[in-house]
Amino acid sequence: MLTHAVMNRSLLIENGTLLSTGGAASLRRGHSVLIEGGVITRVAPRERMGRFSGRRVDAAGKVVIPGLINGHTHFYGAFARGLTGTKPARDFLGVLRNLWWRLDSALTTEDCYYSALVALIDSIRHGATTVIDHHSSPGAVGGSLDAIACAVRETGLRGCLCYEVSDRDGARVMREGLAENVRFIRRCQAENGAGLRALFGLHASFTLSDATLEEAAGLGHDLQTGFHIHAAEAQADQRAARRRSRMGVVQRLRRFGILGRRSIAAHCIHVSRREMDSLAETGTAVAHNPQSNLNNAVGIADVIEMARRGVLVGLGTDGMTADMLEELRVALWAQHLGSGDPSEGFEEVAGALFNGNAEVAGRIFGLRFGGIRAGCAGDVAIFDYDPPTPLAGANALSHVVFGLSQAQVDTTIVGGRVLMEHRRLKLDLDEARVNARARELAGKLWQRI
Ligand SMILES: [Zn+2]
Repeated sequence: MLTHAVMNRSLLIENGTLLSTGGAASLRRGHSVLIEGGVITRVAPRERMGRFSGRRVDAAGKVVIPGLINGHTHFYGAFARGLTGTKPARDFLGVLRNLWWRLDSALTTEDCYYSALVALIDSIRHGATTVIDHHSSPGAVGGSLDAIACAVRETGLRGCLCYEVSDRDGARVMREGLAENVRFIRRCQAENGAGLRALFGLHASFTLSDATLEEAAGLGHDLQTGFHIHAAEAQADQRAARRRSRMGVVQRLRRFGILGRRSIAAHCIHVSRREMDSLAETGTAVAHNPQSNLNNAVGIADVIEMARRGVLVGLGTDGMTADMLEELRVALWAQHLGSGDPSEGFEEVAGALFNGNAEVAGRIFGLRFGGIRAGCAGDVAIFDYDPPTPLAGANALSHVVFGLSQAQVDTTIVGGRVLMEHRRLKLDLDEARVNARARELAGKLWQRI
């Protein structure tokens, strides 16, 4: 029986259909979830929950799932929406040179803040509660992560940030990138808050010299942090690694100590089986981003083989969307297409989103994610979903892919704090004003590039 001792951020989600996605999916109807001190402390049928005098959220007729986690994104990508007139790209390097490197080079600190706000609000609207970002703004490096952290704080989500160090803009910008990571990692370690974490960011093997990799690795190891880097996104990354060091991208990163249980390698499309084994042996997480990969025509990562070889695979959006269930669907279609078998990959891609991302976020934040049970983070997404066909534990994931993904998120909660309820943001932010300022800044940014 509950007493009225209401802890900080104590919240009762009442009478929902709980769809637990961690491990084997399970379904419980008419259940309530108690969140205290940011963590789920009790899950029970509504009538057995007892008295409670704190904040309540009515989930009757709705489906409650663990908050979604975005394993790899770029907030600044929010400012590319609608951008036209860039030179057409013939390949992946063309996409980087004609679009992304022009855009990120022109970002100001205020652009970093507003593009992050836009992306974070979009995440809340799609039930994402933890977002792992990879940031670049070569013209405004110093303080860029603080500006983004400000947006993370204001939206109440959990964010893991990093600055992507690269040699592509010269030695000065590279040094600024190293310093920004070090400074921000120290800040996060000193604060040790529940909502903000950092990794050491690196762009990709093909824009990093041996000397820079060695220096970054040394700094990261001293700080006992992991790294977040793009790896083998296109064949060009592999070709460059072989030219430079007569080994593949994964082996090159391993040699410098960039891989490990705290590190994330995004993409890993063009990796050999030996490289997959290397990722598994080092415990490195792979962030799979199928929408971005299909859009850039760089290939389809073999998630099925990686999972078979014990690689921890998670799912990200690479800035393409804030909607993790949309990404899940595309991940599934991509595996079907890639393997030529329409029944392959379901377990692997659902596992990447619900189990892989939960494991990755758990390593970073030191909390348990991905479940609706006592001891897990009080992060949930509540969907308006009235299933038109029978819904049970056994077919729950199929409903997620084909039904929930098409439904609206009604309520988003992080650590017991309600960030959106009945599709209305519960933040100290005026969304229309944020969008208006973002539009103004994005327009000016487009003119500069
Ligand atoms: Zn990326």
